[in-house]
Amino acid sequence: MRQWRADMRGSVGLVLTMGYLHEGHLSLVRHARAASDHVVASVFVNPAQFGPQEDYQRYPRDPQRDLSLLEGEGVDVVFMPSVEEMYPAGFDAWVEVGESLTNRLEGAARPGHFRGVTTVVAKLFEIVRPQRAYFGQKDAQQLAVIRKMVADLNMDVEVVGLPTMREADGLARSSRNSYLSPDERRAAIVLWRSLCRAEELYDGGERRAETLRQEMRAVLAKEPLAEVEYVSVADTATLKELEAIAGSALVSLAVRIGRTRLIDNVTLGD
Ligand code: AMP
Repeated sequence: MRQWRADMRGSVGLVLTMGYLHEGHLSLVRHARAASDHVVASVFVNPAQFGPQEDYQRYPRDPQRDLSLLEGEGVDVVFMPSVEEMYPAGFDAWVEVGESLTNRLEGAARPGHFRGVTTVVAKLFEIVRPQRAYFGQKDAQQLAVIRKMVADLNMDVEVVGLPTMREADGLARSSRNSYLSPDERRAAIVLWRSLCRAEELYDGGERRAETLRQEMRAVLAKEPLAEVEYVSVADTATLKELEAIAGSALVSLAVRIGRTRLIDNVTLGD
């Protein structure tokens, strides 16, 4: 990868993925393609960001399909390191963003998750040295944590956040959607429905955060296959739970549909 990078003239855009690519990933690649001379994509299911009881082993993988999709998008290089290359025996250096951003929401539900994310992202930035790196708003907290890492550690990379790509019925595209049975797939639409309910209330003038949370929970409660992990209406910068929405708010949720854990979010206000 270093050798390929050394031979690239002009700007480099980087798209980091765990593979099993979908339209969300490809939209990041297309933005990178439009803004940079070269595009590098990485495909790496990062064990460091999975908890011991999580789906690391069964996470969906299809490297041949990923390669042909990325080739079709005109990506210059696909970096697909092995776990041993990224974490050789004795590996023990970690990059961590402080608890105020990483201990809530996804961080509370998945201890150590963001430490794994920031460590692998820092390593990939160092290996690829891109001018720009592209992330999806689908993982809104991840984007906030990475922005914080880049700012506080003076990393010389522009972080670009891009909108969530959805299925026709609103379900956010995710590699994990492949786990869903047909019944679960129908049930999974309830995440989007509850976010739309929050949006509708906000557009109607509601600014009390707890009312939004309650109304979202009421929508979710109607779906028997859905088990709510959290529903949040938080400050977009600090991710702290709000009482009232003054400027903007990140409305996010994590819900289990059967064994599959899904997340989604929308931003209200500017
Ligand atoms: P993943 O492979 O799930 O780790 O995702 C790799 C990148 O793609 C991350 O920056 C995600 O936020 C982004 N991403 C995942 N799903 C979507 C989506 N539905 N729309 C836009 N970006 C996405």
